Amino acid sequence: MSLPQVRSRPSPNHGTRGEPARIDMLVLHYTGMKNAQEAIGRLCDPSTRVSAHYVIEENGTIWQLVPEARRAFHAGRSCWAGESDLNNVSIGIEIVNPGHEWGYRPFPDEQMAAAECLCRDLVARHPIPPHRVVGHSDIAPDRKADPGELFDWRRLARAGIGIWPEPAADRGRGRGVAAVERAAAFADLAAIGYWVTAGAESLAVAAFQRRFRPERWDGRLDVETAQRLAEVRAAYDRARQG
Ligand SMILES: [Zn+2]
Repeated sequence: MSLPQVRSRPSPNHGTRGEPARIDMLVLHYTGMKNAQEAIGRLCDPSTRVSAHYVIEENGTIWQLVPEARRAFHAGRSCWAGESDLNNVSIGIEIVNPGHEWGYRPFPDEQMAAAECLCRDLVARHPIPPHRVVGHSDIAPDRKADPGELFDWRRLARAGIGIWPEPAADRGRGRGVAAVERAAAFADLAAIGYWVTAGAESLAVAAFQRRFRPERWDGRLDVETAQRLAEVRAAYDRARQG
């Protein structure tokens, strides 16, 4: 296994992790700024109080901004599997992309290869289980859409990073599913780890769709989404049982 080549660009924006220190989560983002230079500048600007441990440029260059042992400021108000304060326990990676605001575009192969290499190294060195590899929108569905529907979660899962089960071949063909059981679908969402707030369920559904049914992320609980939810939940249940 090749090790990632990492360059250093220290950010002053970091703090201490709680004691005993635990690093068992990986949070992937996109930068959502016009270019890499602006994004890295912002993540290193003491007045912003934001940062991440790593930044990956579109050409595959990897920068380390914050030492892994320190707490970086990337997750914000967020929740996964009932746990909040995720900066405390996670490593944050910012993947350069203009994002939905500035012209969202596919992540180039060089960049995905670098992400795969870095993530593989991180999950090998830290006790980060597959069910704790998340996107920012997974843990903050009411505020965030990154890394978004173009991010290749399937590729990472095939490299042993995170969970992305292959969809059943007959999905969307109805199979006699007359109506979506909303309560069961929301229970699946919560069991996977999503924070499902009453009245804002569609935001969690949209976050799920961006990641696991990226062809359409309208937040509607259609039959195909409900089937996919059951499929993904089963994969997460298996992973948690170890
Ligand atoms: Zn983010």
